[in-house]
Amino acid sequence: MAEKTEKTYIKKGDTVSVLTGKEKDKTGKVLMINTKKGTLVIEKLNLVKRHSRPSKAAPQGGIIEKEGSMKISNVNIVCEKCNKPVRIKMNFLDDGKKVRACVKCGEILDR
Ligand SMILES: [Zn+2]
Repeated sequence: MAEKTEKTYIKKGDTVSVLTGKEKDKTGKVLMINTKKGTLVIEKLNLVKRHSRPSKAAPQGGIIEKEGSMKISNVNIVCEKCNKPVRIKMNFLDDGKKVRACVKCGEILDR
C-alpha cells in the first residue's frame, strides 16, 4: 500500500512565496520538504527561537534562531519570469521528460 503523501509540485531548491500567516508575501528558497507530513522549511522564513546546548562557538549555550516548518499548502511556487507566485502545470518535453511549467507564461521550471 502506498503511503499517503501531499500532492505538490514544489521541490527542494524552489523559490516559493508564502500565501498566508506572519510571513505572508515573503519569498525564499525551499531547504527541506516533507511530503508525508505536508510541511516544508524555507530559508530565513518562519524563524523560531531554540535553546542551544553549550558548544565551542558559544560556551554558555544560548538561544538560536532556526527555520521552522510551514504547511506546503501555505506556499506557492514563484515563476522567475512572471516574478510572482503562479500555478504550475506539467509539460512533456520532446524526449518524454516530465517538467513543471508556469501556467501563465509557459516558462519551464525544471532544468
Ligand atoms: Zn511565468
